[in-house]
Amino acid sequence: MNPIHHRLALETKGFLADIEGRRLYELALDACSLGPCLEIGGYCAKSSIYLGSACKEKAAVLFSVDHHFGSEEQQPGELYFDPEMVDPYSLKVNTLPHFLDAIRRADLADTVIAMVASSAVCAKAWKTPLSLIFIDGGHAEETVASDFRMWVPHLLPAGYLVFHDIYPDPADGGQAPYHVYRSAMETGMFTDLPMTGSLGILQRKRA
Ligand code: MG
Repeated sequence: MNPIHHRLALETKGFLADIEGRRLYELALDACSLGPCLEIGGYCAKSSIYLGSACKEKAAVLFSVDHHFGSEEQQPGELYFDPEMVDPYSLKVNTLPHFLDAIRRADLADTVIAMVASSAVCAKAWKTPLSLIFIDGGHAEETVASDFRMWVPHLLPAGYLVFHDIYPDPADGGQAPYHVYRSAMETGMFTDLPMTGSLGILQRKRA
């Protein structure tokens, strides 16, 4: 991985461990010759830099979907609220300036395409086959299930479906991504690959 990208990814705010980011980079590097990558939940662009670095190497692109208003647990008074994410004009959470600043500093504006809307709205009009889908948006059961349902039809054979925050033990974290990851496995559409940290990694079968 480009060492400048790696340093910037480490410095960028987010909830992704470096080992998880490096795995995303490797998966994107393997997949992105087939078609664009897509991530749901761009936040401040930490995962976008890992994925985007691979896409840039192969002259591919990454679509990054996020309304940038922050998720439920990032609102004032909630567990993951960060006062630095409050926009001084609207006094609301707005992660878009942080996202754009990180993309500019990483020189990835020619690779990462921000789609500023909810995942469900973006998916409605989507037609482009994707080589990798990274699901890390809202963590409510229905949100993760809807991200899976709406985007997976666009995943190419041999493409990767990756979930963040997979915790088989409820003591370690919320269960919604894990439930959807399990039900994805049960469809028989995917080969499950070894996890890295809390990344659950599935590869769409070629048939
Ligand atoms: Mg996450």
